[in-house]
Amino acid sequence: MVMRSDRSFFRVERRRFLRGSARAAAAAAVAATGLLEPAAAAVSGRTARPADLPGKSGPRCVVVGGGVSGLTMARALKQANQAFDVVMVEPNATYMSCFFSSLWLADLVGLNTLTHSFCDAAKDGEYIWLQGKLIDLDREAKRAYTSEGYIDYEYIVIAPGIDYNYASLGLHDPAMAVMCAQNYPAAFKPGSEHLSLKNKLERFEGGVFLLTAPSGNYRCLPAPYERACMVAAYFKQKKIKGKVLLLDAGEKPFAPLAPGFLAAFEELYKEFLVYTPLTFISSVDPVKKLVATEFDTFKFDDASIYPRIRAAKLIEDLGLHDPKSPQLEADIDVHTYACKGDYSCYVTGDARPMPFSKSANTANTEAQFVARLIAAREAGKEIAWESPHTLCYPMVDANPAQALMVQTRYAKQDFAFTDVKIDNNRSAANAKAGLAWGEGLYRNLF
Ligand SMILES: Cc1cc2nc3c(=O)[nH]c(=O)nc-3n(C[C@H](O)[C@H](O)[C@H](O)COP(=O)(O)OP(=O)(O)OC[C@H]3O[C@@H](n4cnc5c(N)ncnc54)[C@H](O)[C@@H]3O)c2cc1C
Repeated sequence: MVMRSDRSFFRVERRRFLRGSARAAAAAAVAATGLLEPAAAAVSGRTARPADLPGKSGPRCVVVGGGVSGLTMARALKQANQAFDVVMVEPNATYMSCFFSSLWLADLVGLNTLTHSFCDAAKDGEYIWLQGKLIDLDREAKRAYTSEGYIDYEYIVIAPGIDYNYASLGLHDPAMAVMCAQNYPAAFKPGSEHLSLKNKLERFEGGVFLLTAPSGNYRCLPAPYERACMVAAYFKQKKIKGKVLLLDAGEKPFAPLAPGFLAAFEELYKEFLVYTPLTFISSVDPVKKLVATEFDTFKFDDASIYPRIRAAKLIEDLGLHDPKSPQLEADIDVHTYACKGDYSCYVTGDARPMPFSKSANTANTEAQFVARLIAAREAGKEIAWESPHTLCYPMVDANPAQALMVQTRYAKQDFAFTDVKIDNNRSAANAKAGLAWGEGLYRNLF
């Protein structure tokens, strides 16, 4: 056994801590064997070469992910310090928002409302969009390995959103999990899943349309109930002999707005929606179109099945997750979003571990704070913590458009709700305010 001095032990441990998991394993092997470190062993091809980017014009900030969090971050970093050289890495060719997607299902907005150009966002925000994926990270060398080559950075903000945990539905066999994901996509990640759900509704000829709401702090707590209302509104409008079956792991539809949702279910969709709370799905058979709980089995004709979520797998792959977190969210300082002990690396958006609502306004206001915090650190200063602002207008009726409203901020100490405002009375005024909120956010990002 090789004995190491305390100093060298801590040096090696710190290096392991600062590297992504693949590279940490390589570094650990080096420490154990004394062999030379295979510097680029984890990467090859294009990833091992520098990305095709203009020379650095200032401290380089890499933003990973072009969702609400990353888009806000890229723009806000530039606004906070014009000298920052900002590169946003996002693989998708087009932005499509999750928020408003259920309104689109009920034809309240068009697809053009949801879709936007990353080129426009980058041009207007004065940053660079690199269409690619972050693959690995060497935090000691401050080098981000992407599918389009590596980028050396001063700061990196990682905002990759969420992934689904199909094992939470009893789907341990990858073949069955893939079948469920492809045939009955959750549509809680933007893009193809939403297009697929819209196609399903347009082709639906009648019967049971299954929707589910999982347990945990899932993406957008009111969204499964808003979606149930919008699908039921679509059936009602098109006179489709279909019923939404909403199986909810929770005991009521999003507690603060439960009275408003339950009133909508009862008063607007009695013939079109069946709501079943406290229903924990233990298995899904995507072939026979069955879901089972401990007590019941439900047959469906078509479905969109929302499993429990977890932070995007990238967070775990980079070794940035908290293994004790049930949703494998990032292990960061909860007031500065910095990876512990590393002021150059941050995680924001729905991959964060704080109990904030995983929603767009939260991600937008949070990213503005973190951008100012990074700019302050670059100037050798600190700024006081600011709460994100959660604001949501879930639509419950499509004809005429009527919505509820909830907003909250969070206390610094324990993140308890503060400054809460709730409106459980559905109204056209809330619907109008909600549409104006979304338009304002698109304007802010693009
Ligand atoms: C149906 C629905 C309705 C909603 N309604 C509302 C609402 O009314 N109000 C509200 O406030 N919020 C709402 N939300 C929630 C809101 O849309 C999300 O919370 C928000 O978009 C989260 O932003 P994000 O940037 O963290 O994640 P995302 O928007 O998911 O963005 C993550 C991005 O990271 C990219 N990425 C992933 N891995 C990599 C990688 N390796 N390299 C580079 N990029 C990567 C992905 O391609 C993606 O573009 C709703 C969500 C849904 C699904």
